[in-house]
Amino acid sequence: MPEFVGAVDQGTTSTRFMIFDHDGNEVARHQLEHRQILPRSGWVEHDPVEIWERSNTVIQNALRACGLSPTDLHAIGITNQRETTVVWDPRTGRPYYNAIVWQDTRTDTIAAALERDGHGALIRRKAGLPPATYFSGGKIQWLLENVAGLREAAERGHAVFGNTDAWVLWNLTGGPDGGVHATDVTNASRTMLMDLETLDWDEELLALFGIPRRMLPTIHPSAHPEAYGQARTSRPLRSAVPIAALLGDQQAATVGQVCFSPGEAKNTYGTGNFLVLNTGTELVRSEAGLLTTVAYQFGDAPAVYALEGSIAVTGAAVQWLRDQLKIITDAAQSERLAAAVEDSGGIYFVPAFSGLFAPYWRSDARGAILGLARYHTCEHLARATLEAICYQSRDVVEAMEHDSGVHLDVLKVDGGVTANDLCMQIQADVLGVPVSRPVVAETTALGAAYAAGLATGFWRDTDELRSHWHESKRWQPRWTAEQRAEGYEGWKKAVGRSMDWVTV
Ligand code: ADP
Repeated sequence: MPEFVGAVDQGTTSTRFMIFDHDGNEVARHQLEHRQILPRSGWVEHDPVEIWERSNTVIQNALRACGLSPTDLHAIGITNQRETTVVWDPRTGRPYYNAIVWQDTRTDTIAAALERDGHGALIRRKAGLPPATYFSGGKIQWLLENVAGLREAAERGHAVFGNTDAWVLWNLTGGPDGGVHATDVTNASRTMLMDLETLDWDEELLALFGIPRRMLPTIHPSAHPEAYGQARTSRPLRSAVPIAALLGDQQAATVGQVCFSPGEAKNTYGTGNFLVLNTGTELVRSEAGLLTTVAYQFGDAPAVYALEGSIAVTGAAVQWLRDQLKIITDAAQSERLAAAVEDSGGIYFVPAFSGLFAPYWRSDARGAILGLARYHTCEHLARATLEAICYQSRDVVEAMEHDSGVHLDVLKVDGGVTANDLCMQIQADVLGVPVSRPVVAETTALGAAYAAGLATGFWRDTDELRSHWHESKRWQPRWTAEQRAEGYEGWKKAVGRSMDWVTV
């Protein structure tokens, strides 16, 4: 009997393959970064072929690292950066264009026109999303309008769309030689093209974007023993292993953090930040700028929904300090720099590089550093960067409490930035609630593995998964109520100043 489950985590900055045992412990991993292609201000692309090659390599290397063979894997789950859009020729596997990444703002005029022409209400009602550059629908429309011959190819079935879950799945299951073209309800819920109630592509929404239905993947539940077929490409998995789950990265982290009951929430700190609150089988419409989305659907059980607060730039602001400003050489150094000063000296950094996502949804916003005096140093800026991560999270926590009436007693966190102790302490201070990190911080890959293992009977039920969750660290709030109120007031003022900067 195979004793392990594998997960491909195709993220924004890297792709990793992780192997877990029956207790949810990590057995092996391998991870490779891919290029961030930035052709113009606001444009962010990835090379889909590079992403597939990296996926292939990390699977092989992780298996080799722990001396396992593919037959030791009970199942595989795939989790992915959501919304990032790939269009390829299913006859050859060749992409028509680079993947357009979720952070890319080239479709701002498409999003603005939808709102201006009065389609915003329809998209919010059916898809649970505001028109924004973030989601896949506008990106597909842009490709159909800007890549010569693409629309005709799509109408003839010679161009198909997928997020990177579908792209990796199609390649893993054979590519041009019978690859499965499918996605799951969570990924589909980020396209602006799926009706949240029917869980199927919606003709009215497709018509708004002018997208031919035949280019879209079939939508399945997130966890299913057969729907996604078997990994059969000679490389990396020579023998057939069931692919039993597909799940967008934030939804996978929600599963990995075992947020299975309504009212349970997690906040993931990666390139961006994503707070997800389980709202059960009930669809909750946001009044405060959150997204309504599918949390997961396991097999034939009803879909479980969520409210989500998505922030475009959090860890990416730390990358910006490293790659663009060059004031640090690695992300961890941001902590040492920020710890060298007691506070940010009254400056605020609003990293609205891709406009502002939740709860503001302002594509006309751009990054701003406010309150600068000659006194300020890169240490203050590093601290303001960490604070910006935390203040943005407070914005979405407030929106979530408004929409759901749920008051958080503790914030469950995960993701790359949570390695930064100072940042997590600031988060507890800014929110006034404790922050808790689990032992297995790789909740995204773990969640995809959990979903796959549930589908194939490797794990019995969600209660069994709950028993694997253990806290590794907790940060208690230290600021006084006055400090908290004063700091947040300054932040709100700074956010206001970042808006109205560009015309869309
Ligand atoms: P993703 O899945 O979005 O690629 P990860 O969860 O791997 O993201 O986290 C990577 C992000 O975390 C990067 O943006 C990086 O700048 C940030 N990061 C990693 N370590 C630290 C740290 N010690 N302090 C602050 N930020 C960090």
